[in-house]
Amino acid sequence: MAKATRVRLLDSGTLVIDQSHITWNVGSGTPVRFPVYSVLIEHPDGLFLFDTGYDLDLVNAMLPFELPEQTPEQTLTSQLELCGFKAEDVDAVINSHLHFDHCGGNKHLTNATTYLHHDELREARTPEPFERLGYADKSFDHAHAKFELLEGDVRFADGIHLFHTPGHTVGHYSMLVELEGSHPLMFMADVSYTAAAYANDQQAGFHHDPVAGVRSIRRIKRLVREWGAEVVFTHDMEAFRNYPLAPEPFTGSRETSAAGGAA
Ligand SMILES: [Zn+2]
Repeated sequence: MAKATRVRLLDSGTLVIDQSHITWNVGSGTPVRFPVYSVLIEHPDGLFLFDTGYDLDLVNAMLPFELPEQTPEQTLTSQLELCGFKAEDVDAVINSHLHFDHCGGNKHLTNATTYLHHDELREARTPEPFERLGYADKSFDHAHAKFELLEGDVRFADGIHLFHTPGHTVGHYSMLVELEGSHPLMFMADVSYTAAAYANDQQAGFHHDPVAGVRSIRRIKRLVREWGAEVVFTHDMEAFRNYPLAPEPFTGSRETSAAGGAA
């Protein structure tokens, strides 16, 4: 079976939020700078991206209080170039969800089909008042956008599995990647932001449904056990510092064990 041949993390710079947003209502008054990145997957079926980072101009205009820091080398197009690709080479983008820091580069991917949950597209287009800032970047609806709307769990390609993990947003997806020569990687996106939060079943303060959110954290833990996978943390600066970044390949931060996919 053809699995993903290479995974790379594309650095998209950093943002700042208060600790109380990372661990919903626990700890406050401490600003935390955290990483944002995309996941580039080379697969026998095509070149895929899981999320696309944030757009600096958009954040400066709409959310300047998150103090974005993104160099020209950290834009999505520069990061793709670093890996030897152009934006037009990307065949598919999977959006875990459509918060601005996960879809800001979609508009550059003019040949890609956008895969996301059916309800996520609806919610991002017509968000509830408390979700408007999170869905501030509407550029996923660009002139070349072609949407493939998904529901439930989906086997996206050989070795690429999407799990519907709602809570943070209504249509949130997590992605498990089986990699040639390594253990499976679980990219849980924003189910929980950091290793410490995940260990304590804590979700971020930004959510659509907190009950669904905590169930999704527990579901990720079950899936990780079943698959012998490593969780890759999305917005955890400490973890991120130990992750090799593009153009280096990413195979996780632990030694590959014999544990493989089973479920
Ligand atoms: Zn989010």
